[in-house]
Amino acid sequence: MTTSASIAEAGSADERPPFRVAPEAISVLESLWHAGHGAYLVGGGVRDSYLGLQVVDWDVATDARPEQILAIFPGSTYKNRFGTVLAQGLEITTFRRDHRYADHRRPERVTFSEDVYEDLARRDLTINAIAWGRRGPDSKPRELDPADGRGDLEDRLVRAVGAPERRFDEDALRLLRAIRIAARLDFTIEPITYAAMTEHARDISWVSEERVATEVRRMLAGPTPSRAFHMLLETGILAATLPELAALADQPETATTSSTATRLDHALATLDSARITAPGQERLALAALLHPLGVDLAGTVLERLRVSGRDSDAILRIIETLPADYRPDWSDANVRRDMRRVGADLLDDLLLLRQAHVDASSDAAAAALDDELRARIHAQRAAAAPLTLGELAVDGRDVRDTLGLPESPAIGRILDRLLEDVIADPSLNQRMTLLTRANLILDEQTLRVAGTARPSGIR
Ligand code: ATP
Ligand code: MG
Repeated sequence: MTTSASIAEAGSADERPPFRVAPEAISVLESLWHAGHGAYLVGGGVRDSYLGLQVVDWDVATDARPEQILAIFPGSTYKNRFGTVLAQGLEITTFRRDHRYADHRRPERVTFSEDVYEDLARRDLTINAIAWGRRGPDSKPRELDPADGRGDLEDRLVRAVGAPERRFDEDALRLLRAIRIAARLDFTIEPITYAAMTEHARDISWVSEERVATEVRRMLAGPTPSRAFHMLLETGILAATLPELAALADQPETATTSSTATRLDHALATLDSARITAPGQERLALAALLHPLGVDLAGTVLERLRVSGRDSDAILRIIETLPADYRPDWSDANVRRDMRRVGADLLDDLLLLRQAHVDASSDAAAAALDDELRARIHAQRAAAAPLTLGELAVDGRDVRDTLGLPESPAIGRILDRLLEDVIADPSLNQRMTLLTRANLILDEQTLRVAGTARPSGIR
């Protein structure tokens, strides 16, 4: 059979994969087959496609060596130092063989293999070790599933390939991958695999903080992220990675009436609610998860999770303002001060988190108060009550010119006072009114400065 004939055949019905595939993925396979190589779709793409989920990344495994892959795909580049090549948006990896792992981590070098079965055997989970492709241009495409990943997909099970004890001992990152994938798919971790994970929980400390951070943050993006954290807690992995959070599992939740709930349960319920009210918003998910820790401990955890300084500041500001201590006798000015506390840029996030917080709580009275505060905040918003210096009817230049003052910090202080006044009474936000008040404030400050400047004893 000629090479070109076999490529043409790849399009015929019986030679197409039994799951939906992106055309780019097929075209990459065809290029590799055409060049005489064996090449297969494998990994998360096959798994997710079988489950009817949207596939973002297709992984291709081949017997072609990295430099051969580069030659076949003009413009392709190395994705990492292990020889994975990025071509036409896909990750192409040369078959590998497992070898001894030092330190419970991914080895510093890889050994290439010619054998697709060896490559499938080194993969972490049975559902990630299903391959579809062909050995070369002259063979028929077919599915290879030596670990019965199809069976586990059917039974909705996450199971290690081979002996679980050994697989987690080799590479402790697999502990987090298994939990992330099980939580995302709502699969059960098969009992022997789960027992091995519990046994090896402490090995997670061999994995770099950065890689742990990446996995944990991906868990937050799942549909019901609490599932992942319950497994992390139960296996002992949470205590080894985020001990501050694990400690919350020993503290009863006092704000709710349910007697067995812990503060971690409350954090996780808030996290799941935030995932529903604000899907895809990592900042809110983190604020929801970490809010019971308070600002200082939450800051420590955010640093460990490698959250940027900017996001971290925002998250801590939201956590700080989450408890409103609201009472129905609050004046509207009090409501506006609460809005100002978090800042206009984060007010929406704060409201979403408060909503999630209420949804997660079984305290009906607190929920009613929170609903009322939210309604009052929305009313203030609708009335466009000014809350920032930028919304004042005057700016620094106006104040300077009117008062005949040089540029100085005093101007900023006067503007801050004007804003306080306007937050207390928005009807003051008129140019002439504010400039008149600026004059009064200046007089007051001058008097105060003059007063303190007088030698003591003379009144
Ligand atoms: P997702 O892309 O949704 O995270 P995935 O399973 O595709 O899931 P990748 O990181 O893209 O994850 O890895 C691709 C494949 O490589 C996996 O499906 C698995 O077969 C294998 N793999 C990845 N990491 C490991 C590991 N630490 N140990 C063994 N095999 C791994
Ligand atoms: Mg993938």
